[in-house]
Amino acid sequence: MEWTGLNELREQYLSFFENKGHLRLPSFPLVPQGDRSLLLINAGMAPLKKYFTGELTPPSVRLTTCQKCIRTPDIERVGKTSRHGTYFEMLGNFSFGDYFKHEAIAWAWEFCTKFMQMSPEKLYISVYLEDDEAFDIWTKDIGISPSHMVRLGKEDNFWEHGAGPCGPCSEIYFDRGEKYGCGSPECKVGCDCDRYVEFWNLVFTQFSSDGAGNYTNLANCNIDTGMGLERLACISQEVDNLFEIDTMQKIMKHVIKIAGVGYHDDEKHDVSLRVITDHIRSTTFMIGDGVMPSNEGRGYVLRRLLRRAARHGRLLGIEHPFLSDVCETVINENKGAYPNLFEKHDFIIKVIGIEEENFGRTIDLGLQLLEQMIELTDTSILKGSDAFKLSDTFGFPIDLTKEILSEKGLIVDEDEYFRLVLEQKNRARNARINSGGDGWKDTGVVTKGLTRTEFRGYGELITESKVHAVIIDGKRTDYLESGVNASLVLDKTSFYAESGGQAGDIGIIENDDFVFAVNSTTKTNDGVVLHHGSIVDGEGLKTGDIVYAKVDKDTREATARNHTAAHLLQAALRNVLGSHVEQAGQLVNSDLMRFDFSHFSALTEEEIDTVEKHVNVSILSSLPVSTLEMPIEQAKATGAIALFGEKYGKTVRVVKSGDFSIELCGGTHVDNTGKVGLFKIVSESSVAAGIRRIEGVTGFGTLDFINRKEMLIKNTARIMKLGNTQEIEHRAAALMAEIKSKDKEVEHLNSKLSAMKANNILNDAREVGAIKLITSVFDDSNVDEIRSMCDTAKASGSNVVAVIAGINSEKGSVSFAVGCGPEAVAAGAHAGNIVKVIAGIAGGSGGGRPDGAIAGAKDATKVAEAIAAVDETIRKMLK
Ligand code: ATP
Ligand code: MG
Repeated sequence: MEWTGLNELREQYLSFFENKGHLRLPSFPLVPQGDRSLLLINAGMAPLKKYFTGELTPPSVRLTTCQKCIRTPDIERVGKTSRHGTYFEMLGNFSFGDYFKHEAIAWAWEFCTKFMQMSPEKLYISVYLEDDEAFDIWTKDIGISPSHMVRLGKEDNFWEHGAGPCGPCSEIYFDRGEKYGCGSPECKVGCDCDRYVEFWNLVFTQFSSDGAGNYTNLANCNIDTGMGLERLACISQEVDNLFEIDTMQKIMKHVIKIAGVGYHDDEKHDVSLRVITDHIRSTTFMIGDGVMPSNEGRGYVLRRLLRRAARHGRLLGIEHPFLSDVCETVINENKGAYPNLFEKHDFIIKVIGIEEENFGRTIDLGLQLLEQMIELTDTSILKGSDAFKLSDTFGFPIDLTKEILSEKGLIVDEDEYFRLVLEQKNRARNARINSGGDGWKDTGVVTKGLTRTEFRGYGELITESKVHAVIIDGKRTDYLESGVNASLVLDKTSFYAESGGQAGDIGIIENDDFVFAVNSTTKTNDGVVLHHGSIVDGEGLKTGDIVYAKVDKDTREATARNHTAAHLLQAALRNVLGSHVEQAGQLVNSDLMRFDFSHFSALTEEEIDTVEKHVNVSILSSLPVSTLEMPIEQAKATGAIALFGEKYGKTVRVVKSGDFSIELCGGTHVDNTGKVGLFKIVSESSVAAGIRRIEGVTGFGTLDFINRKEMLIKNTARIMKLGNTQEIEHRAAALMAEIKSKDKEVEHLNSKLSAMKANNILNDAREVGAIKLITSVFDDSNVDEIRSMCDTAKASGSNVVAVIAGINSEKGSVSFAVGCGPEAVAAGAHAGNIVKVIAGIAGGSGGGRPDGAIAGAKDATKVAEAIAAVDETIRKMLK
């Protein structure tokens, strides 16, 4: 077998099957498109599911792909087995009702033995227990010796996923020799050790399952095969494990260089090196496909992988952020096959960098805390509240905590943990609802059977129509009385239903008998438009009534201005910041436009100004805004911006503002950018790591904004008693300077006052032996004040001992300051010891140096007693 690099192997496989009449498709993104059943693509067939079920027609009955895959269930095995990664590429050839077992098996064999020149001696085949047909093809047609064949049960060799198409499979194994075996006499194909590596799985989809164990034959049988590209490279390059193939080694060597450890020096280090090498690959590809770190769904998977990699970095002794550095190598190694990594290079690096830095701030504290928690745990179960604290405060994904615990033989009380997470979520949700949450939304159940509402609103604001249905409290009826909240379904409407971030229209539905005020408009998944509101004039209405649906023109136009501005903003952001800017969310209504987008750092003032200017230049250029329906392929070819991960139909609507902006969009817009009026950015902020938010206003919104600012300035001028607003800046600066100089004056007077008080007490001095003793008690004086008075008193003579008490009447406590002059100290007086005695009397403690000390005590009622004790205390000290 010839050594072949991973990138060449990929190409060889795909062209091999192209030569067998297959259409080559590029890898689909890791984020499933239009499939909510799956978090991340985990097999070559996953993005092709709708071709297998017949829901969609494939572009060819024979396809071949190399598909990016993520398998987090394999996470624990990564780095420990030789053959598992969380990220890998799956090569596959697919037949949709075209060829079947014969060809699939023969071509697989040809590829392995003729093309790759694997020795048949090393190859073993498994088939499903009852699949005699496959067994016969392998043994009779191909000529495999029965000693190289095994029959396995449903668990291993039957592919099935709930109800739907399913079937037996046949796997091809490579025998890597005894040295990789587990040594058990039972070791054979199917053993979980690393000797017999499954590298190709051929699935023969020939049945349909009802999900209850009943199978019927499919009219059209399908072929779905999956071969791990890294496993194939492992075999071709004759290396120990996935992490030693060419492309992976470059990554691992980068980590080795940063960590300064050797490979094969220490098994624990080796596992960490392999884990990091794997996780940095998965995370790079996930971010490249639009996943952002978060605490839910695929964002959580990403965060967990990144944080796990960061921890393994710590285990290797790497104390600083390093993953974004290694990511450079991943991009370099893969940009040939996946150019999008190159295009998004800066963005990916930034996202990893930010996430790593955030976690870097808390990881050490978290790890320390976890150690302490483990020490304090006397059972083998860590409290759920501890795990919650680690995740909530220190950003430890629960799985990371579990993993660290399991290394020490401990587990966590997950019930308690998830209960706390749920409580926190509910709190957050309630807060959201209280601040105005979602209204009632029809899920499609009540409106079942109703036809899709015809939307006329792009061209007209008033539509003559018929009431199709009335829905009250989620139930369909035929009649609506005045004053009752309801949702009306019409056969056609000019009302735009909330979607794509654009708020639904408001307005009225009326005829000569009634007026129904619409306060919001939504639609069901089946396109039935619901006009929510109530009758505000007239008796009632019934289904079948002929009505006029009239959209509120002002609101609609204000919304259109904001929507067009959002398009211009997106184009401007891309111009100014770069092509990594992608829409991450949007809200446009009549008041404002809010646009969320991917970008790694806060915009500078200069960037904000430039973006705002770009938008306004395109407004002032009065660009015509046109909308066109066209096939999706054509739209993409014109460079129209599509929403990442959004599912589009065959025909799409393209909104174009001159040559400045072109986007796929179903919303309503002005017909010329000039109608947007002035665009003003009112805020720029962060929504999540790597996602920024800009809010802006247009048209009358801008006028409002300016008026409000003007009012603010006018009111401020009035409060400052200024005749004209021009002076406001000058006057504010003068006021600040005045306050500063007054503060200084107050400070000066205060110190004068304390000096005067101190001078007064000097007059009360009395003699104790050779000492001049000054004592005094002040109400409402803080420590600083009594310290300063004590200093002044002490300075009045070398033989002075000053004892000053300050009472805090609010707390009922007292502070003491004691100072002894040099002669007094020489005579035996000791401030620290004096304060200890007198503070002790008032329920406190303290001590300090011979020449000065401070102490606090709880009980101010004992002050007199404490001061009275000073004379005697000093007398005892004197030599
Ligand atoms: P295993 O039992 O070794 O985990 P599997 O049965 O899960 O493999 P399939 O679901 O049949 O594998 O996937 C098809 C092919 O994809 C496998 O034959 C293998 O070459 C590859 N593959 C599967 N999981 C991984 C993984 N975690 N890392 C690398 N390659 C994989
Ligand atoms: Mg597996």
